[in-house]
Amino acid sequence: TGTLMAGKRGLIMGVANKNSIAWAIAQQLAAQGAELAFTYQGDKLKRRVEPLAASVGSDFLLDCDVTNDDQMDATFAALTDTWGQIDFLVHAIAFAGRDQLEGSFVDSTTREGFKSALDISAYSFVDAARRGSAIMKDGGAMVTLTYLGSERVVPNYNVMGVAKAALEASTRYIAADLGPRGIRVNAISAGPIKTLAAAGIGSGRHMFRFNKAASALQDNTDSKGVAGAALYLLSDLGLSCTGETHHVDGGFHAIGMPREEPLRA
Ligand code: NAD
Repeated sequence: TGTLMAGKRGLIMGVANKNSIAWAIAQQLAAQGAELAFTYQGDKLKRRVEPLAASVGSDFLLDCDVTNDDQMDATFAALTDTWGQIDFLVHAIAFAGRDQLEGSFVDSTTREGFKSALDISAYSFVDAARRGSAIMKDGGAMVTLTYLGSERVVPNYNVMGVAKAALEASTRYIAADLGPRGIRVNAISAGPIKTLAAAGIGSGRHMFRFNKAASALQDNTDSKGVAGAALYLLSDLGLSCTGETHHVDGGFHAIGMPREEPLRA
């Protein structure tokens, strides 16, 4: 615990349950004194998010499906009414239909599947950043979550890789737009972590095994590391860092070819 986020208020979008990356980030920010509001996707998830929010002293919960403009309006209106201004925004939301996430990218990607993946996983950040920046203090910060499948081909990640490429490019454009106000906008590229969203990607077991074997740290990614990176990027520690895609993946992205035999079991 500490005071890096003392006096700062922000919105966390994307907690579904205790395994959510957004939840790891929320806990880290709360432990540093941040005051948090949460969005959840529909009543089914409210039951899960409510007790988590309560455990970090928040009862500020907003029902918000990012494809629903009325709910986005209501979310940011509630923030404006209750807090007036915010200091930070966390976007940890992605979706692609299951039929889009297996087998051949070129054969399985439909127009509707492409549209909804890009809408929910990339445009929603642009939308939230526009709305959030309207009530964000100068010097505030935003973070989104991305994955290496944007830069390189990962089996079954398919249209989500294309969506993450759009998300990372959007991060750079938003960073440039908001930079004059001292607002920093960054993406964290996390290695595979066992969450609800990750379970939707085919061949999960292979993915975790391969990432462990082929990463520099020869271990899977711990969401605590992702939360630490978010704390750095969202607090004043991150001064001067913006428009960046920061990898927190055990160094997997840095490896060109894995060793024949792992250095440790
Ligand atoms: P998660 O399932 O816990 O979180 C995904 C969230 O997206 C859920 O809270 C879900 O409700 C929300 N969501 C989906 N569609 C939505 C919609 N239409 N409106 C509102 N919310 C919606 O899984 P996670 O792994 O914590 O995912 C968080 C972010 O991290 C995602 O952007 C994901 O792509 C990214 N990420 C995950 C991994 C991983 O391996 N788990 C790796 C890198 C990046």
